[in-house]
Amino acid sequence: METISVDVVIVGAGTAGLNALHEVQKRGGHAVMIESGAYGTTCARVGCMPSKLLIAAADAAHGVETALQFGVHAGSDRRIDGPAVMQRVRRERDRFVGFVVADTEQIDASRRLRGDARFVAPTRLLVDGWVQVDARAVVVAAGSAPWIPQPYDGIRERLLTSDEIFDLPDLPESVAVIGTGVIGLELGQALHRLGVRTTFFSPIDKLGPFTDPQVRRVVRRQLESELDLHTGIEMLQVTESSAGVALRWRTPAGEVREESYARLLVAVGRRPAVARLGLEATGLALDRNGLPAVDPQTTQCGDAPIFFAGDVGGHRPLLHEASDEGRIAGANAASWPNVQRHERRAPLAIAFTDPQMALVGRRFVDLPGGTSAIGAASYDDQGRARVAGRNRGLVRVYGEVGSCRLIGAEMFGPGMEHMAHLLAWAVQQKMTVQAALAMPFYHPVLEEGLRTALRDLARELKALARCRPEDFADAPGD
Ligand SMILES: Cc1cc2nc3c(=O)[nH]c(=O)nc-3n(C[C@H](O)[C@H](O)[C@H](O)COP(=O)(O)OP(=O)(O)OC[C@H]3O[C@@H](n4cnc5c(N)ncnc54)[C@H](O)[C@@H]3O)c2cc1C
Repeated sequence: METISVDVVIVGAGTAGLNALHEVQKRGGHAVMIESGAYGTTCARVGCMPSKLLIAAADAAHGVETALQFGVHAGSDRRIDGPAVMQRVRRERDRFVGFVVADTEQIDASRRLRGDARFVAPTRLLVDGWVQVDARAVVVAAGSAPWIPQPYDGIRERLLTSDEIFDLPDLPESVAVIGTGVIGLELGQALHRLGVRTTFFSPIDKLGPFTDPQVRRVVRRQLESELDLHTGIEMLQVTESSAGVALRWRTPAGEVREESYARLLVAVGRRPAVARLGLEATGLALDRNGLPAVDPQTTQCGDAPIFFAGDVGGHRPLLHEASDEGRIAGANAASWPNVQRHERRAPLAIAFTDPQMALVGRRFVDLPGGTSAIGAASYDDQGRARVAGRNRGLVRVYGEVGSCRLIGAEMFGPGMEHMAHLLAWAVQQKMTVQAALAMPFYHPVLEEGLRTALRDLARELKALARCRPEDFADAPGD
């Protein structure tokens, strides 16, 4: 068997792994990166990019569907060409993937190994049983995989996860979406708007990522007005036939119901891809899910020369976090045993549903009791949102009593992908509510709704005396 000795071995050529490799090389370290699957990353191939491409098609369909409110008649021959929708998703997806694959293949071939990596000792990995890699430090950047729980794991032909859905040649006639988290809602709402009969099921009574009860109420009211949602159900039976999948479930009221769908989209979450890694050989203490504890500021596992980066670490399974963690892990692995702590960015997570969902900084459930205050603004009558016929939603902004600093927000409404950034930057800069209100706000814009929430927060924080009078000037419909 061939043996290779390097400074750092990296498992996974996804976003975190590629960033780790660049960082090690930048520092003059000798590294190899092992990949068992196709190059191109989860984000570009089956994640962020194809999901947003499908949503873009759904947005176009929704625009046509709702045009009449503006007096615009879209024509009687409008239809959705399923194969054309899926072709564009794949064409554009493949373009993004192509760039990543080209970049990856530019890395010197001696730095890239193909195969399944498995630990056989704390810093020794076996690749498909044909090559052994010894390293001073290891970066595990193995990503995550869709989780398929019972009773859905027996379904074969009709089951889809986000890993398969974008390769469908046509839109299905109907889909049962299992899971009402971010991925289930993003993909399911898009399918619904593209004319697919779509029903959502979840054993828990939750829609999206929110923890704030007031935001959750508004989300439920809004999504129920558009989507066929069944939460808090018990799935009794799932049967696959050549025609589709038959579901039998019990409603929270105890009623048993049945329905059949052409396809089942299971989107109940993703789990760190550790099953094939042989982590027992590392000597790390593993929890009941087989995962080690990872320090998010160093990405290190305990005091071992092993660093977990990206989704596999389970800290914040998002693209920008995977990039950061890859860099941190690469830097620390290259300079092992000199491990540096890195200040992490303010938390920011966005779901591209309509209305959009966003979490910034601390969530409602994480607010310190007694030392925080909340400001709120509804988007039901917000001027700019109403102009565009998108006037739905609620923003709740959290501040710290005494310092008047902005500490977080839960946001549901139009254009939240942009406003969440403004707030995340403010949170990270430790900005006070009065400093945020002193910033310019144009008119008429969606950000005026955020300003209403900030003004409310200033009142709740009893910070009015610290604000300038002009920061409470009125504008129509703000
Ligand atoms: C449908 C969907 C939509 C998403 N949308 C967004 C979004 O809008 N915004 C956002 O920020 N995030 C989004 N995400 C999340 C984002 O895609 C991930 O957080 C990110 O891609 C994780 O990168 P990674 O490097 O950790 O893992 P990956 O890119 O998955 O890389 C891990 C690599 O490790 C390889 N590997 C695993 N085990 C082994 C082994 N034993 N040996 C060798 N190689 C191995 C895998 O083959 C894989 O290539 C979305 C995810 C999904 C599924």
